[in-house]
Amino acid sequence: MDTRQQVVARAGAAFRSGRSRPLEFRLRQLRALERMVKEKEPEIAAALRADLHKSECNAFSFEIMGVLGEIALMVDNLPTWVAPKSVPKNIMTLTDEVYIHHEPLGVVLVIGAWNYPFVLIMQPLIGAIAAGNAVVIKPSEISENTAKLVAELIPQYIDKDLYPVINGGVTETTELLKERFDHIFYTGSSQVGKIVMEAAAKHLTPVTLELGGKSPCYIDKDCNLDIACRRVAWGKYLNCGQTCIAPDYILCDQSIQNKVVENIKKTLREFHGEDIKKSPDYERIVNKHHFKRLVTLLEGQKIVYGGETDEATCFIAPTILTDVSPESKIMKEEIFGPLLPIVTIKSADEAIQFINQREKPLALYLFSNDKKLIKRMISETSSGGVTANDVIMHYTLPDLPFGGVGNSGMGNYHGRHSFETFSHRRSCLIKSLTMESVNKIRYPPNSQRKLDW
Ligand code: NAD
Repeated sequence: MDTRQQVVARAGAAFRSGRSRPLEFRLRQLRALERMVKEKEPEIAAALRADLHKSECNAFSFEIMGVLGEIALMVDNLPTWVAPKSVPKNIMTLTDEVYIHHEPLGVVLVIGAWNYPFVLIMQPLIGAIAAGNAVVIKPSEISENTAKLVAELIPQYIDKDLYPVINGGVTETTELLKERFDHIFYTGSSQVGKIVMEAAAKHLTPVTLELGGKSPCYIDKDCNLDIACRRVAWGKYLNCGQTCIAPDYILCDQSIQNKVVENIKKTLREFHGEDIKKSPDYERIVNKHHFKRLVTLLEGQKIVYGGETDEATCFIAPTILTDVSPESKIMKEEIFGPLLPIVTIKSADEAIQFINQREKPLALYLFSNDKKLIKRMISETSSGGVTANDVIMHYTLPDLPFGGVGNSGMGNYHGRHSFETFSHRRSCLIKSLTMESVNKIRYPPNSQRKLDW
């Protein structure tokens, strides 16, 4: 078997051969990926089921559909995006050719997380191929079935040397990070994000860090709680709460706390029936380690709904906790599971203060009928993205850059933003060797005169 160094070196040599650069080649690889997803959809869905108990329907809606959509968008737009972009000129460059050329970065490392293990590898891969790079792919070892399948499938469809898949855990990733890459695109926790950035700094390698954090959800007294709570319940318990942009906790006035609880309970019955364990749409916690971590977060909390757990099957019921202290453990770390704490506050101003006293979240959710209040809360806080009067939906639009800010990450991707992330925007100016008289004004002794370009 090849060593990691050999695999990375081969990707570098393949990149230097120049074959990943032509537009036609990139389009061919993207179409081959599309074929792979379409032909192997049942296998992909089975791996997602084995890893996270995802139903076929959820696997399609939340992983496969996004990948196919991203490929279609890239294939349609790439010819326009790769074309040189002319820019305005000044008097000294009027007759020159001046443009921005998007060139590939080189060999890119993509490290994925386990919660949406297919889309989180494929979406950056699509952007990196579209931009003309070689890509070393490292799926999460925690979602082992998807990781194994990705390693099996990718070389069957796209260039083996340019796009190798390396599987392994922390030890292997640590070794891999010693290699020199031209860009590292990491999805995972903020804690490991720091390790990745430190390793990248040794080679001055730029990074995109798609991290996590606690995404707050403010519910105003003045809003339709029936609708607001249905939307919150959907986004919170989707994938058993293991979604980076899931609403982590609710901030609301004490006077509506019980109504919020009742509405979420009603919605969960609507979604999953009386026995959630039998619901085809409810996933499981990825492994025992995360199961135990979540169970400890329940200690000392007032559970008003849910709370049932089954270690053997990593099942944790959708759970609601009320009157949660901002000082408790569950409010100190990203939950990443189906536990929904409600913290009561007295006003929108207090909510703004609460949000601003903590790390900048990946997403912020605001529910209110008052559009002015929504706009004010957006302008007085910071987060990777915002959706008002719904959750998750900003993620679905490829024209919106997806990424964090501060502790929730740096850089962004999706659609055109992925193409930009994996490209270097090179400034190009091509002059002719004629018309030297024009240049006289910038050469000495004339350069002693002040020039207005
Ligand atoms: P994880 O454990 O799968 O880790 C992610 C990747 O990091 C894996 O490929 C793993 O091999 C590697 N890794 C883990 N520890 C490492 C170490 N010490 N050194 C080097 N590499 C290491 O996933 P996770 O971190 O548990 O993922 C959950 C986190 O990811 C949450 O915080 C979530 O919010 C975040 N997330 C963010 C996004 C986003 O798009 N912003 C998407 C999904 C998940």
